[in-house]
Amino acid sequence: MAHKKFPEDLVLYPDELLETVSTPCIVFGEELQNLFDRMISVMSDCHGVGISAIQIGVPSRALVVSWGGTTVCMANPTITSSSEETDYRNEGCLSIPYLTVPVHRSLEITVQYDDVDGEQHTVAFEGIPARIIQHEIDHLNGETMLDQISEFSANEAIKKYNKRRRKHG
Ligand SMILES: [Zn+2]
Repeated sequence: MAHKKFPEDLVLYPDELLETVSTPCIVFGEELQNLFDRMISVMSDCHGVGISAIQIGVPSRALVVSWGGTTVCMANPTITSSSEETDYRNEGCLSIPYLTVPVHRSLEITVQYDDVDGEQHTVAFEGIPARIIQHEIDHLNGETMLDQISEFSANEAIKKYNKRRRKHG
């Protein structure tokens, strides 16, 4: 039986959809829940810890972050404050499989977002979830982790990625 390597909905680098600046969510409730459910399904299939709507081809400002048994769905997230203190760790991306690159991220952030019903929340995150949220918000702005590193490192990473995609599909 043929095994599909990636979920059908998953947008893979270098698809130019990943350069799309997503637009605010204005519809909440069931329709937004359906979008979050689709995102969670693709994220789970890939054993991911976060996903943005554009990664399943939907240019809406929605993301899901999942760590340590907690899953949070955010619409229209904005970072209202971020610590000067950063850490530097490897990151992966569902849309750029086979690759990890070290990225500097703020250790602590405060995020304002709307939940599925349009109710606004302001929550502080630190460590892993803070890193994931920063990564996913970049996607909402048409950027990937490759935009957060030097051009030289990004070019090296892209060469590695292309080689691995040729080898593994
Ligand atoms: Zn990503």
